[in-house]
Formats: sequence, C-alpha cells, structure tokens
Amino acid sequence: MRLVGRILVVLISIVALLAAVYGGTMALRWLDSSDGFGLLDRQPEQPLALSSLNAHTRAAADDPAFRRYFTTMVLPDPDASGDEPVVVKWEQPRVTIKLLNKGGHGIETYLRRLVARLNRMQGEVRFAVGDDAPRITVRFLRHQEYMREFGRGSVGTTRTRFFRSSPGLIRARIAIDAERQDSASQLKATLIHELTHAIGGGGHFTRLADRRRSVLFQSSHITSWSQDDAAVIRLLYSEWITSGMTEREVRASLRRYARSVD
Ligand SMILES: [Zn+2]
Repeated sequence: MRLVGRILVVLISIVALLAAVYGGTMALRWLDSSDGFGLLDRQPEQPLALSSLNAHTRAAADDPAFRRYFTTMVLPDPDASGDEPVVVKWEQPRVTIKLLNKGGHGIETYLRRLVARLNRMQGEVRFAVGDDAPRITVRFLRHQEYMREFGRGSVGTTRTRFFRSSPGLIRARIAIDAERQDSASQLKATLIHELTHAIGGGGHFTRLADRRRSVLFQSSHITSWSQDDAAVIRLLYSEWITSGMTEREVRASLRRYARSVD
C-alpha cells in the first residue's frame, strides 16, 4: 500500500513538472509571436556545442582591411530616411527558412547545405529549413511576375522587417527571378547572395577586386561563403556584435575583440 502511495506521489510530481514546462514554453511562444519582443527568447535553446570564433577570426578582426570588409558587408547603404545605418541580426534562438515553391533541381539540397554550414559557423542562432513558423521565406517567380513586382533591375530581392535595436530582424522575404538565370549555378549564386542579406548582410561590394571574395558582390557568381564572408558571419553572430550598432561601434568592438583573451 505504501509503495502504491509513493508511486502515486511520483506520478503526480511528473505531471506537475510537465505542466510547468509546457506552461513556460507557451509563455515564451506568446512573447515571441505577439511582437517579436521578449526577454526570454534571446538565449539559444541548447548550450553552445561549438566554439564559434577561431584563430582566423581573431587575426581578421585585428586587420583594418577586414574591419572595412565587415562594415561593408553588414551595413546597408544609407536610405532616404537619413537614419544612420546600423547592424541588425536575428536574435531568436531558432529561425526557420521555408521554400514557398520549388526552385528547380537540387535547390532544396543546396539550401540545406548552406543552412548546415551556417550552423557550423556560429552557435547563436539555429537556422533550419522547414514549414514551422518560418521567419525567412524564399519564393521563385516566373520572369513576368518578378518584373511586375520588382522591375528588371535585379534577379533577386530580399525584403526584411527589423527593429533598429534589439530584437533586430523579425522577418525576411526573398524573391528570385527563376527564369532569368542562365544556369543552375547562377541560381545558387543568387540564392546565397539573398540569403546572406536575409541573415543580416545588408550591404554590397562594388569594387571589382571583391568579385571573387564575397557572395555580396553586386553580381557575384560565387556559390559558397569565402573565408572572409564566414568570419563576418561568425562575428556577427557572436556576443561582440549586437543589433543597433553603428559603423563606429562595430569597428571599436572588433578591435576590442582582437585584443581580448578568452
Ligand atoms: Zn544584393
């Protein structure tokens, strides 16, 4: 009888614990979906499994040319609002990317490879491909449709919604003109370029010298992130860079990081 009693107590405790965990999760979701602003949703779901910064990244941060590369890549060109450009990044622990339609043979596999690499590069945000509450969407359009919506000046467009400080990015919509790409590799180059915009790479490289260096060269043909691109993404998704930083603040923080010992 006493044994049965004890088992009952254990079972009731488990139920109570599960209810508490469920309630907590719901509260967190609610904060997250109401307006994307919440104090609870900034921590990664799991402890970091990887060291997100490495020796190359530290050496790069110490180099003024790399710091220029960094700010060119992450800061958008000044727009009509006259506001000073600032860094924005994703701050939710998990960001789902959804393909709204098929981009053609091998595109989904390519996107999954990119996302896996993003997750190896940094440990702050877990990116995933799926359907569950997507924050980033990718749409492939016929040429006529694309032109009607975005004009003929581009083959890909990324529209983002964000706060100029925390919580940073809250939504990104990628649209790609699927019929104006000469080859599968050009389609991939457009996808990685737009995806880089969607994760906080707001800028462009315009100098020809950067043509082979970055996926954010204006008309890049590169289908993978270069070592410098990767170092930028690593640092962007580290504690050293936060949404709302101006160019001066970014450079100062990179210099501090280069001098730091961990
Ligand atoms: Zn672009």
